[in-house]
Amino acid sequence: MRSCGGCTACCAILAVNEIGKALHERCRHLREAGCGVYDARPASCRAFFCHWVRSGGAEPERPDLSGVMLEPAEVSARGTGIVPFAAYETRPGGLDGYWGQKILKRVARRALVGLIPYGGEEPREFIGPPGQVLAGIEWKRR
Ligand code: SF4
Ligand code: SF4
Repeated sequence: MRSCGGCTACCAILAVNEIGKALHERCRHLREAGCGVYDARPASCRAFFCHWVRSGGAEPERPDLSGVMLEPAEVSARGTGIVPFAAYETRPGGLDGYWGQKILKRVARRALVGLIPYGGEEPREFIGPPGQVLAGIEWKRR
């Protein structure tokens, strides 16, 4: 596990129920230097670590730099247990950029990933190992 460095991408993307923060709403507690209520931040913020932090990713793959933030399903408030990763675009075009594609191709070799465009709520498509993509499409239909 590594530290977030200067990234605050998830604070502008993920919903935080405890403070009524909606998906894609920039958190009202977010300051230039990071979380303004760090010591008293909600439990879901304390519990969340994106894939980059958990896997010790390379610096250019940091979510705010690469344009892609992967939310592991086991820490997801959306309960997408069938889809191991939701890949949120942290800026327009991030999913299709060089670093975004590098991350996604690597992760999708072993796990199903739902690609969520900038500002979107639902995956635009699924990528993953052969035979698993259909499971993602069926999950979306529910
Ligand atoms: S997106 Fe990842 S690296 Fe960025 S602030 Fe959130 S947990 Fe840290
Ligand atoms: S409370 Fe702090 S850690 Fe949680 S979303 Fe807001 S700025 Fe981020």
